[in-house]
Amino acid sequence: MARVISDECVMCGSCAESCPVDAISEGDGKYVIDADACVDCGSCEEGCPTSAISEA
Ligand code: SF4
Repeated sequence: MARVISDECVMCGSCAESCPVDAISEGDGKYVIDADACVDCGSCEEGCPTSAISEA
């Protein structure tokens, strides 16, 4: 399983910086998580200001 980022994303970039496996990149209007790279650690979720990240 991987985490997913919802439309609540305000593109602050905090999640991408916290990801230990560089699974998060800037997408079209929001950041996106590469499901194949994500190890489901939860680091990104803790720093998200809009709670846009959740378990898929
Ligand atoms: Fe990266 Fe962990 Fe978030 Fe997955 S759960 S995108 S590995 S910080």
